[in-house]
Amino acid sequence: MDSVSKVLFLSEYLKPASVVFDLKAKDKVQALDELCDVLAKQKHIANKKLILTRLIDRERLETTGIGDHVALPHARVDTGGEVAVAVGRSEKGIDFESADNKKVHLIILVVWNPSIPGLFNHLFAGLAKFLRRPEFRHRAFQAKDKADLYKVLSEIELMLPLLDMTVSRASLIKRLQEIEIKRNKATREQKKALEKESAHLREELDQALLARFDRLMQRYGFAVADVAEGACQGCNINVATGMSAAIEGSNDIYICENCGKFLVAARAAKPVKKKKK
Ligand SMILES: [Zn+2]
Repeated sequence: MDSVSKVLFLSEYLKPASVVFDLKAKDKVQALDELCDVLAKQKHIANKKLILTRLIDRERLETTGIGDHVALPHARVDTGGEVAVAVGRSEKGIDFESADNKKVHLIILVVWNPSIPGLFNHLFAGLAKFLRRPEFRHRAFQAKDKADLYKVLSEIELMLPLLDMTVSRASLIKRLQEIEIKRNKATREQKKALEKESAHLREELDQALLARFDRLMQRYGFAVADVAEGACQGCNINVATGMSAAIEGSNDIYICENCGKFLVAARAAKPVKKKKK
């Protein structure tokens, strides 16, 4: 975990043959299937069926549409290699149930190996940061052909693995809490499904965050508290005004200075909010 400071470009992981300039897919599942096919044909992935299932499971947790016509579906599976990336462009657009309701024209699918824990944040943060820049998105959307699109995407610079860059964290940790609470009252059969979902969610969250989450769950029976009307619902103490404003409508996780629980906005945060300038 010490050599992560080197600068990498997406071209390290994305091969020209893994770019589909004109997806045939008409919906989300078809698109995931089509991109997995591309990876399987090039032997970047070994078990297509398993990976497709994981990708679909992940979409069920929460859409990976990050808004502005872009989606970043991903799954953590042993790929045999480090990372497998496929890119699909859809002229007509595909419904990904993105928060902004915009159809997705660019899909960057990432399958990565669980033996490299920092890698996902590293990759995902770089992709999301780059793709949220309008001028870059336009270049990608206006690419004339496959080679052109590949060239634009190759320039994506992947950054350091920032622990707090995981997308959709607040809604995911809230969901994890719901599942952990349900698990305690579940029948044996229900437990299996809940444990599976818990494991998926945990793959998306940072280790240090999870350790803290588990400690709080053990001690109090819950770890995540809503902020409502400026107060932490875990301890009923008002949080600082600036903090309360920052939490409102954000998907970031804060910590209550009084009771130490994770603070999230009372209303379910959207996966990724477009920042107003
Ligand atoms: Zn509190």
